[in-house]
This record gives sequence, C-alpha cells and structure tokens, in this order.
Amino acid sequence: MIEVKPNPKMLVHQGTYGEYGGAYIPPVLEKQLQQLSDFFDKQADTDEFKTEFVQLLKNYVGRPSALFYAKNLSEYVGSKIYLKREDLNHTGSHKINNCIGQILLAKKMGAKEIIAETGAGQHGVATATAAALLGIPCKVFMGAIDVERQALNVRRMHLLGAEVIPTELGSRTLKDAVDAALGYYIENPDSFYLLGSHVGPHPYPKMVGYFQSVIGQEARQQILDFENRLPDSIFASVGGGSNAIGLFSAFLDDTEVEIHGAEGGGDGQYPNTAATLTFGKPTVFQGTKSYCLVDAEGNPIPSKSIAAGLDYPGISPQHAFLKDSNRAKYYPVTDQEAVSAYKLLSKLEGITTAIESAHAVALAIKLLKNKNSLAIVNVSGRGDKDVERDM
Ligand SMILES: *Cc1c(COP(=O)(O)O)cnc(C)c1O
Repeated sequence: MIEVKPNPKMLVHQGTYGEYGGAYIPPVLEKQLQQLSDFFDKQADTDEFKTEFVQLLKNYVGRPSALFYAKNLSEYVGSKIYLKREDLNHTGSHKINNCIGQILLAKKMGAKEIIAETGAGQHGVATATAAALLGIPCKVFMGAIDVERQALNVRRMHLLGAEVIPTELGSRTLKDAVDAALGYYIENPDSFYLLGSHVGPHPYPKMVGYFQSVIGQEARQQILDFENRLPDSIFASVGGGSNAIGLFSAFLDDTEVEIHGAEGGGDGQYPNTAATLTFGKPTVFQGTKSYCLVDAEGNPIPSKSIAAGLDYPGISPQHAFLKDSNRAKYYPVTDQEAVSAYKLLSKLEGITTAIESAHAVALAIKLLKNKNSLAIVNVSGRGDKDVERDM
C-alpha cells in the first residue's frame, strides 16, 4: 500500500539554503510573514492538520498519483523509465497539492479572502478551485496581456467564483501580477497570499516544499515496491522549482541517485531563455536571494520560454543551493527539444503532457540514451492546454 504523506524532514528548514533564501521584504510585511511562519510551524506538525491535508489529497485530488512504467519509451531510449503522473491530479497538475495545503492554513488562520498571482492561469485555477472548496472568497491578479492570452483559464476562474483582476502595471505579465498582489496584501492584512511556486520570501519556499514533498515520498515508495531498489536518476522540469523540489526532496540523502532539473531553455542562448540557473547570477529578487536572469547592470530581465509555467526570471533558493553544492544538475532544454518530446510521448505512450513537463522528458531522453539504467521522470501536468497551439 502506498502511503500519502508529506516529508517531515521538510519542516526543519528555517528559510535559508546556504547563502540563499531568507526574507528580503519591506518592513510593513515583516509582522504578517512572521505570523504566517509561526502559524505554519505550529500547524504543519499537528496530527489534525496532517490528517485533513492527507484526506483531501486522497479524496479530492485523487492521490497517490500513479508511477507508470513507460515500456515503449523505455525501449525507444534504452533505459527503464517510470513516469510520476502528477497530470492525473484534479485540475491537471501538481499545483493543487500546494493550494490544498495553503488553503487549509488560511482557513485555520481565519483569512477573510485568498489572493494569488497567475501567469498562464494554471495556479490561478488551482487556487480558485481550493478557495471554492473551502468557501473563501478569492481574487486572482493577472497581467492584462495574460488575461487576453489565457481566456479559457480566465473563464474557468470566473466559473469557480473567483474575481480576476487584470493589472496594467509594467509589461502587464506575471512579474507585474506578483507586484500587484503584494501591494494588495500589504494593504489588506486580513487576506492570505497563496503563492504558487517554491519562490518568494520565507516562509513560502518552506511551506510549498513541504506540501509538494508528497510527490517524492510516494515515488520513492512506489519504485521500491516495483523494482526493489532506488532509481539511478530522477528528472523534473524547473520553473520556480516546486514540482522539482517535490520529487527531489525524498532523494536528497540518497547520494547514489543522480538528480537532474530541466530548465526552460528558450532558443538555448542568453537572453532568449528562462534557464535561470544556467545563465543567471545570484541576486535578490521578489523577496528572496537566489539566481536570477539579469542584464549587464544586474537588473532582472524578462525570461523567454515556450512554456508559460517555466517562463520566470527567478528560481527557488533551494535549487540555487543544490546547484552550487553539486547535489543536483540543471540543464537548459530548448523549446524545440521540448516540442519533440511532447509529440514523441503522445505517440509512444498515449500521454500528452504539459509542454512544461515535456522539458523533463526531453532531458531524460538525452541523458539516458542506451544507458540501461533506471529512472523516474516527473510528469508535472497534462497537456490539454497546449493542444490548440501550433507547435
Ligand atoms: C507551473 C507549472 C510548472 C512549473 O512550476 P514549478 O513551480 O517549477 O513546478 C511545471 N509544470 C506544470 C504543469 C505547471 O503548471
């Protein structure tokens, strides 16, 4: 029997990962985030909270997600490849794991409303879903350009009862939606800011990492059940870094397991890329210290990737630490390589992944060719959203 449970080790982090992480925030936010941090530390370790979280993951999200032996892909590549199927979760990706965890916390804190930022709309939909489930009003901030580009997800959020607030700031995309949501959060301390990835100031990476660690806990147990041993390597796509840390966290102490992250490479060359760990520099950006894509003066620049979920100039502080300490390796995967993997996996296995997840599949195909080894690839989401695009 596979147990659905998050990794208790994720609770001991205190927000710094080597020289990275921390909370670089305006003084007005200090009290709010300290309260949030204290509340999370107290709740997350109680049996009551853990039971509620795990029950919702089972009965609402549909966990545990399958670990599927991809026989056709394995024969094609020449290595044994298992796919961790986060695409089978309710709402179609790993993002719901984190939303369920944070919404439970918000409810217990007595939050009057939920706010969130979204780029492509995936995190907005998952947040609106969780907010509907627990009956808390929800506002989603979104760049005005994204509101136009992602009409389907905007309609889904409306249907779920959320208010979508287009922002006309800056370049009118994700980074500006974050700024708008933060501004609202400062002025409305009764609200709960539900952040969608392994980024931002402490305690967000700690909370998100804990809620997503259920992915790796399950996968580790599943591969031991099927193969009676640990994999030689594991793979995940890396945008902000939450699905990757969710998988990686269960294997960090297993030094024989190689850990590989696939970044959105764009056209493969700076500055047309979202490969933050490959082309970025240590920088303070949106509340945390980590790598960031910057210009010659050290200012953050817009990223570029075919995958909206990977298209972010920042990255989780823990991935920055794992890169510097060589525990994990990160590679840029180009738009073109991802599209090829997306098409190949659809034909070989009947699984159309999100274009984000296809980056991890592409990296696995490249590194595992005729290696005769055993690997797990995280399929972070399903690809329905990408089918209408001309790729
Ligand atoms: C948002 C998203 C990602 C990237 O976000 P992470 O925080 O890096 O996991 C990857 N895959 C899918 C399907 C997504 O929706």
